[in-house]
Amino acid sequence: MAGEGRKVWMNGEFVDASQANVSVLTQTLHYGLGVFEGIRCYKLEDGGSAIFRLKEHVGRLFDGMKILMMDPPYTREQIYDAHIKCVKENGFEECYLRPIMYCDVGSFGLSAINPTKAAIIAREWGTYLGEGALEKGVRVRVSSFNRHHVNVGMVQGKICGQYVTSILAKREAMKSGFHETIMLDTQGYVAECSGENIFCVKDGILRTPPTTSPILPGITRATVLELAKDMNFEVKEDKFTRDFLYLCDEVFLTGTAAEVTPVCEVDNRQIGHGKPGHITQKLQEAYFNAVRGKNPLHKNWLARI
Ligand code: PMP
Repeated sequence: MAGEGRKVWMNGEFVDASQANVSVLTQTLHYGLGVFEGIRCYKLEDGGSAIFRLKEHVGRLFDGMKILMMDPPYTREQIYDAHIKCVKENGFEECYLRPIMYCDVGSFGLSAINPTKAAIIAREWGTYLGEGALEKGVRVRVSSFNRHHVNVGMVQGKICGQYVTSILAKREAMKSGFHETIMLDTQGYVAECSGENIFCVKDGILRTPPTTSPILPGITRATVLELAKDMNFEVKEDKFTRDFLYLCDEVFLTGTAAEVTPVCEVDNRQIGHGKPGHITQKLQEAYFNAVRGKNPLHKNWLARI
């Protein structure tokens, strides 16, 4: 299994990845009742490694369990420590971490309330949106699928079953020759992508949809907003339409997997000069400096291994 960690942390102990199995009876498989996170660990400039914004990711994992009324089987501190141990156990300097909280077997059916179980997977994961994406930018299209209405999907957490819509939207985009997809909310405003938040720049103002929109409150989004504040960029969190995006000077996507990825084209319309814009490049550079421990202002974002 190229790239996979050898060991999976599962309910308090490490097991071989080949033995890290879950019963077909779990409700998580049938109904999508579960919650997960996507987290990255980076090699630092001083030679060590650190998990980026682990506290915030563990926080959102617990938010997801609260929304789904799943009882946490461990404390936040135990889950935090388990991530650090998981990187050490697998000997990675850099990796992607995937904790998942799933349902134990027990009663079956929609009314059943079964105990929560926990696992953390570590694996290698390169550039999420393909080779050259970070340097050259990606082509995106607006999806025919909407982001969940706020009373259909619970958007504040990474809830397993909700990713079916993301997968459908992503496949639609890829099959029609695009790298990624933009999902609108049910009112028609730009929300986010299948697994990234979205930013744009027009007339020097950085904009992103607000967290009152049906978007995941992205940790990379929050990081970029903070870095933009450090650099005194003018920022507005407000709603905008797809045609506003067509007219922007810059567009980029943020996510733990996608990091800060420039967008060079939306719905076959070139954005700016069709190359990563100036503000995008500045924020991308600041982001990589932060994750690699090169930003003295934000060392507290790093959980050292
Ligand atoms: N939106 C969705 C739907 C996502 O799945 C993700 C990835 N977790 C994001 C946005 C970006 O969130 P983050 O920056 O916390 O990874």
